[in-house]
Amino acid sequence: MSALERRGYSLVSFGEGADVMIINTCTVTHRADFQSRQMIRRAHRSNPQSLIIVTGCYSQVEPEEIERVEATAYLLGNKEKLRIPDLLPLMQKGETPKVQVSDIQEERLFEETALPSFYYHTRAFLKIQDGCDARCSYCIVPHARGRGRSLPPGRVIEHLRALKGRGFSEVVLTGIHIGSYGIDLNPASSLEELLKSLEHEETPCRIRLSSIEPLDFSRGLLSFLISSKKVCPHLHLPIQSGDDEILRKMNRPYGRSLISELIHELHENLPEASLGADVIVGFPGETEERFRRTYDLIESLPLSYLHIFPFSRRKGTPASQLPQQVSEGEIKKRAGLMRQLGKRKRQAFYRQSLNKELRVLVEDRRGRETDRWRGLSRNYIPVLLAGRGSERGADWVNREWTVRVTRLEENGVIGEVVER
Ligand code: SF4
Repeated sequence: MSALERRGYSLVSFGEGADVMIINTCTVTHRADFQSRQMIRRAHRSNPQSLIIVTGCYSQVEPEEIERVEATAYLLGNKEKLRIPDLLPLMQKGETPKVQVSDIQEERLFEETALPSFYYHTRAFLKIQDGCDARCSYCIVPHARGRGRSLPPGRVIEHLRALKGRGFSEVVLTGIHIGSYGIDLNPASSLEELLKSLEHEETPCRIRLSSIEPLDFSRGLLSFLISSKKVCPHLHLPIQSGDDEILRKMNRPYGRSLISELIHELHENLPEASLGADVIVGFPGETEERFRRTYDLIESLPLSYLHIFPFSRRKGTPASQLPQQVSEGEIKKRAGLMRQLGKRKRQAFYRQSLNKELRVLVEDRRGRETDRWRGLSRNYIPVLLAGRGSERGADWVNREWTVRVTRLEENGVIGEVVER
């Protein structure tokens, strides 16, 4: 958005009659495709005069499907998305082709996006990696994003310095496969090397990592994470299944014993850390017994929360052709059971923080019902400030405070700021 703002465009709310609407689509599941088509129609209904530009992963993978949605004026692939500021004046004059989607598999360079221009926010997201060279049998992402490519370490440091300069206290390093960071660079680098260098650079005081594949936890990365003062004790692992046969069919290069050892090792060395996991339920061939095996493994592990993904049959992936597809009703039932388990794990994790102190970054927003200031602990617990904290004004915001947890809530905890 900041690149567009620099060219004189300004952001208005949905429904305020924008001249141009840019819809950035996702294609990770069938539902995401459906929601993207719905959003295009909704945008058109809200303002039929608006120029609708559709881009993102669904555009990249299934441009013909989007073309059939009449409201679409222009359709751009993931590479072309980054050229919107240049293309927009031409699109407004009708001087470019309606569909521009180039072959993302040919892309070798990491395309940087401009840093966000918004102020007063506490947390920024910095994409350090894009694409993926793995071929998990259910996943459409490599088709939509192309080969793995990384932002060079020097540029990561420059971006982080700039984010610190703009007042951000936390940055989340994101990517499609950040554990593979740096292997495409010349000279090659790694996530471990990058994080080690960031520890002594000028960056926002908290660095959070998006998900890391189980096999990407090298010995070196593990021992660095245990000692780091900057990287938050919050790790998210896409474990996907706890059954060896299903993992093999998913083309995931590890088994249940590796998952179990890794999660236990992380928990032993970082006992306060939030350990999250992605799990896919209803993968083809997942019998009741295999599902149970996954469920029992996850139940036994010291995980803090789960993200559950009902298997979605994506056209063009090997898993969509596998026999023994699980019925929708069964997938729904298993997803429900796993979500219940995830809820219990989350509650148990929050309970462990009761009467303890957390380092909480207070955000510039308040709880919807209580009007209390909200924050997030280093180990990913949402905290509402009670007592004197709630009476203080905006000077709480965007600073890290020590907070003693006094009460549990369904979706987080309540705590009091401990002033020292
Ligand atoms: S590692 Fe992740 S992004 Fe890459 S193919 Fe597997 S699931 Fe998809």
